[in-house]
Amino acid sequence: MTDQVPVVGGSVSAQCTKCRKATRHIVVSVVGGAPGRVECTLCEGVHNYRSPRSAATSRPKKTAKPRSSTVVQEWETHVATRDSGRAVPYEMTGRYRAGDLLSHGTFGLGLVRKVIPPNKVEVHFREGIKRLVCGS
Ligand SMILES: [Zn+2]
Repeated sequence: MTDQVPVVGGSVSAQCTKCRKATRHIVVSVVGGAPGRVECTLCEGVHNYRSPRSAATSRPKKTAKPRSSTVVQEWETHVATRDSGRAVPYEMTGRYRAGDLLSHGTFGLGLVRKVIPPNKVEVHFREGIKRLVCGS
């Protein structure tokens, strides 16, 4: 087993911040037995050494896209801009029509998209479209 001791001017495989992949780098400085700054042989960028392996493990997790980002956008455009003072508090016994603005204890402000007979309404809340029971 040969432990590669980095030397200035030597080459090392490192994660390049510009190329966004592990490339050959020339060691520019050595800090505490590890490469300090390195120069990418591909893009010639000089940056702090990042080992390809640790870069792989520290790769940001796939951030789950909000499932319904367009719903949120639409909500912000069409619902949040309404006068919330005119919102009707949601009640299971209430009667609503398409276009009514509701204020719901859990979901907040919502816009009635349609009435689903006999006793439901489809409401556009910020977190999505919900079907709520209402007075039939
Ligand atoms: Zn590079």
